[in-house]
Amino acid sequence: MIREKYDWVVVGAGITGTCFAERIASQRRESVLLIEQRPHIGGNLYDEVNEFGILEHKYGPHIFHTNSTEVWDYLSQFTSWRPYTHHILAAVDGKLVPLPINLNSVEQLFPGDRGTRLVGKLIALYGFGARVPVLKMRDAADEDVRALAEYVYQRVFENYTWKQWQLRPEELAPSVTARVPIVISRDDRCFQDTYQGLPLDGYTEMMRRMLAQPGITLRLGCSWHALSDQIDANRIVYTGPIDEYFACKHGALPYRSLRFEATTVAQARVQSVGTVNFPNEHDYTRITEMAHLTGQVENHSTLLYEYPQAHVPGETIPYYPIPTESNRQHYAQYCAEARNTCPDVIFAGRLADYMYYNIDQAVASALSKFKRLVESTGESRDENGD
Ligand code: UDP
Repeated sequence: MIREKYDWVVVGAGITGTCFAERIASQRRESVLLIEQRPHIGGNLYDEVNEFGILEHKYGPHIFHTNSTEVWDYLSQFTSWRPYTHHILAAVDGKLVPLPINLNSVEQLFPGDRGTRLVGKLIALYGFGARVPVLKMRDAADEDVRALAEYVYQRVFENYTWKQWQLRPEELAPSVTARVPIVISRDDRCFQDTYQGLPLDGYTEMMRRMLAQPGITLRLGCSWHALSDQIDANRIVYTGPIDEYFACKHGALPYRSLRFEATTVAQARVQSVGTVNFPNEHDYTRITEMAHLTGQVENHSTLLYEYPQAHVPGETIPYYPIPTESNRQHYAQYCAEARNTCPDVIFAGRLADYMYYNIDQAVASALSKFKRLVESTGESRDENGD
């Protein structure tokens, strides 16, 4: 059999694989075969106009935010941005309050003296602008603050986390619930990052432009395992689940999946903000209204209902690594395997690094791995960094 020859194979056309392919082609002028299992590029950022003419994030809502000028400038070569600051309301005790929980939320949840007293104590204890993980606030010395933390833990985190992960908050790495801290300010925005927005023409279009370069060959609907013995490449970048690369020889790493139900209703806007979270009611965790994110104005609107579900390899899509201590150790076995058996393969991205990356973190990680690769002489050994 004649093997196809490329300088590089990149497995997976999500944001990580797309960044690598773009960098290799534009900066090294080398040939890349980009292989993608799904029938489209974009990974879970994939968006398309649905049957009602509404731009829909097909694998769930993705909101871009970053403090990294490097990441922002890099992506801005391929897209303009629609300025967008995401807002979330959480349904708690019959009220809709800003999430992350902040001083406004505290006052709404506890009107009158108790709210005023709590706000004063929070500012005195943590300082205006502080971001305090709920698990940390539960250890506060002040009894009132501890009671508040307990309330937030029970009403906002406990059941939502159970729905999302089938775990209790303290069974997960503390960084997971710390993504949604209690914020000692009156800023109702979900994120405070310097740069926030959505690609003006969608994520798929942005990534299509990243890949529209001489030297990149895209093959959709192909798995690496099916193709690997037909390809001759000097280097491999693998962005799929790391356990799958090694045929799960150390056991399957656990992932969590999601299912989305899209509903389009005859109303221009349904919610007052982009997302409403339901920690305590329903099987779904949140509802996101696409029109808020995209700014599209129609007389109908598409809502995405988000249902967490178990991940079944081969059947569902792995959305999240599950950040627990035992899974970290399990993943470390694959890292050792990678170092020992294939030091020249570069593992990158949420699934290969088994890391809960946001979009900007995935881009930053791809850019820095690419840079290290170019700069280093003994390039491969460091690339699997565990
Ligand atoms: N979380 C929660 N209640 C909420 C929102 C978040 O308990 O209303 C917890 C939950 O464990 C979740 C984690 O905080 O998985 C991180 O939330 P984030 O909104 O960042 O999740 P993502 O958007 O990445 O799914």
